Amino acid sequence: MPGTLDLDAALQYVRAHRDRHLQELREFLGIASVSAISSHAGDVRQAAQWLKHRLLSAGFSTVRVEETGGHPVVVATNPGHPDRPTVLVYGHYDVQPVDPLPAWRHPPFEPAIVDGALYARGASDDKGQVFMHVIAAEAWLRTGNELPVNLIFLLEGEEEIGSPHLGNYIASRQDLLRADLAVISDTPMYAEGVPAICYGLRGLAALELTVAGPKQDLHSGIFGGTVANPAHALATLIASLHDADQRVAVAGFYDDVDLPTPAERHAFAQLPFDDTAYQDEVGVPELAGEPGFSPLERTWIRPTVEVNGLWSGFSGEGQKTIIPASAHAKLTCRLVPHQDPVRVLDLLEAHLRAHCPKGVALTIARGEGAPGTVTPIDHPAVRSAEQAIRAVYGRPAAFIRMGGSIPVVVTLHDVLAMPTLLLGFALPNENFHAPNEHFHLDNFHRGAETVVRLWSLLAGWKREEGSQ
Ligand SMILES: [Zn+2]
Repeated sequence: MPGTLDLDAALQYVRAHRDRHLQELREFLGIASVSAISSHAGDVRQAAQWLKHRLLSAGFSTVRVEETGGHPVVVATNPGHPDRPTVLVYGHYDVQPVDPLPAWRHPPFEPAIVDGALYARGASDDKGQVFMHVIAAEAWLRTGNELPVNLIFLLEGEEEIGSPHLGNYIASRQDLLRADLAVISDTPMYAEGVPAICYGLRGLAALELTVAGPKQDLHSGIFGGTVANPAHALATLIASLHDADQRVAVAGFYDDVDLPTPAERHAFAQLPFDDTAYQDEVGVPELAGEPGFSPLERTWIRPTVEVNGLWSGFSGEGQKTIIPASAHAKLTCRLVPHQDPVRVLDLLEAHLRAHCPKGVALTIARGEGAPGTVTPIDHPAVRSAEQAIRAVYGRPAAFIRMGGSIPVVVTLHDVLAMPTLLLGFALPNENFHAPNEHFHLDNFHRGAETVVRLWSLLAGWKREEGSQ
């Protein structure tokens, strides 16, 4: 049987060392690891080295700073225990640039505590949340315990510049990184006081249309009435994508879309959401979208087709009486889990070709695609996270999804077949990427305790599975 798992001792450790941990976090935040600016490349490396030393002092046996071709990744592991699940903790130690500097009330790399929140670039996105995981692991490793789960830390230095080297790195180190579950703390809670487990993300499929007409712009007086206008043809095509109810009118588009269970939809409906405040926030006269779904559902669980850009003809001052030679549009779809991006693009392409007016030539270029991902709500990790949050926050967690995509989640899913749990402790208004980024210390401390508990709840997961 595995060695001791004394949860109380681990929790006690987190509470007893709060001051030191906070001091260490301030030190970490003091390193200006801005990945986008080449003059900070040395700082990015310094942050990687800082993490390496800190993970070693937390009790990890092997910590490497590995080259990727860009900024390095930091990987920490311990000897695995075959009876226990393996969890990969992904996070990033790079930060966004700080501009505009004058808007900061405290210098971005001189952390300051104001009203219970720690202000610094990277406080919530993502150094504070990364360090929370370091503390949680240390709490197990430095109290005579074993780690309840086999932990692998994968911390990258290029998240804020789109992770250009991470996909290759993961593909090349599959043996090192293989795990039963990924946990990422790089997202906000649902709202202040409402801790959240995010278990689903939408995917993406992109294409670009070119509608070509005459070989050059034509005089609309001399030629108008005899040739098809590419701008009109493009407008017709775009209009054909939705029906009068704002449902996507592409045949087969909804074929593979799963509807969440009634229990999930009921849970979404219980979340605080103010349509009017949302409408004001985005600044529209009225909300729109597919009938039969709430605004949250439209962004979380329903796929969309959107025009992202549209251009043709003359748009300068005054009149220029032409028939434009061509018209262009960029489209993307947000996809929900089980929709295959390639199939969706096939369907869209067939639809567009079938609806293209006569007299023009349509060219379609396909762009990036990534599937949506979902971790089933009854997955042991989701249930354990809910229990851990309930124990620490004294209230149930919100089960949420997000409308966007997180590329590393797709990579972990595609390359390593790993489900992901997004367990974030930032608040939505903590100014990620903006001046005066901050992190509420209450959530920093409670987040660490939640993670300590989560690991102990997951300890028996594999044995339970084996005995079923
Ligand atoms: Zn982040």
